[in-house]
Amino acid sequence: MRGDAIETMKRALICGISGQDGAYLAQLLIDKGYDVAGTSRNVQSTDFGRLATLGIADRVRLLSATLTDFRSILQALAEIKPDEVYNLSGQSSVGLSFDQPVETIESITVSTINILEAIRFLDPTIRFYNAGSSECFGDTGSLTADENMAFRPRSPYGVAKSAAHWIVRNYREAYGVFACTGILFNHESPLRPRQFVTQKIIAGAVAIKTGRLDKLDLGNLDITRDWGWAPEYVDAMWRMLQAEVPDDFVVATGEAHSLSDFVARAFEAVGLDWHDHVSIDPGTFRPLDITYNCGDATKAAAALDWRAELTMPAIVERMVAAQMKLESAT
Ligand code: NDP
Repeated sequence: MRGDAIETMKRALICGISGQDGAYLAQLLIDKGYDVAGTSRNVQSTDFGRLATLGIADRVRLLSATLTDFRSILQALAEIKPDEVYNLSGQSSVGLSFDQPVETIESITVSTINILEAIRFLDPTIRFYNAGSSECFGDTGSLTADENMAFRPRSPYGVAKSAAHWIVRNYREAYGVFACTGILFNHESPLRPRQFVTQKIIAGAVAIKTGRLDKLDLGNLDITRDWGWAPEYVDAMWRMLQAEVPDDFVVATGEAHSLSDFVARAFEAVGLDWHDHVSIDPGTFRPLDITYNCGDATKAAAALDWRAELTMPAIVERMVAAQMKLESAT
């Protein structure tokens, strides 16, 4: 099923290539000499602006695939014949998952089973990466979560990611598929979509600075998260699939910061005091939220030689600089 002996270039299929992680992963794999293909639910109508921003839009092969449809994923795998499949697709917003619980759960769990079944059917040597999430842990209290912490998800998104995690583990143990879950804590970048609060804060602070916005409405700032830098996190994904044995890994910085601190730094970076420009809208609070989460990536450091370099203050600086550049260009 794989290429013949003279073919040395590895082939990767990235499901969800139009998103933040898909774009950075595509760039990483191209730099490593991979032949990269990616799926989107509808290639004709999807904006691949992130691939264009990274200058790789014409270096990936794109195909439409709906991963909840078995035929669709089977066809994509048969056509691309990948060595590695990364599933980064699915409804990815925790907030939206409360309004679209069925879509969230189906798009995350059914796609995972379909890919694993297609791998078993077509080529069991294909290696598979599943995009897991720290949302599985729920509130970690004052603890840092490692791979042994029990899952107590607090959203339909977290429930779906927990189910997908166990599906992957089950296929690994039952059928010997080389399948890994990266339990990634929040990771940000200038390519983060606008609907996520971090990007909303960055874009809002810059727009207020340049006079295009008066004030920024935000939800609950009394939460604490472990924020990392997306380009580093996709490197962890790749490392998981190069390991000798498949396993699951927490990917995190080990540093927790409050959302109010994130806001303060974003406004500080543009020379403003956030207290003068931000109002809290309780109407946007989630029905249930995680107050505190923080991860322990010791296992990834030991087994994959992976460590986070950037933490929240540096990440905010980079996101603000990128947004300023974007605004001055338009
Ligand atoms: P994005 O939201 O940027 O991208 C996800 C992609 O999935 C989209 O580009 C879209 O592709 C596709 N998608 C969106 N909604 C649906 C849906 N309802 N059904 C099927 N596909 C959908 O996410 P990220 O790149 O940030 O994250 C990648 C993966 O990692 C996701 O699974 C996310 O849940 C997970 N994750 C992300 C974290 C983070 O902090 N960024 C933390 C932990 C896990 P298209 O429209 O082209 O089909």
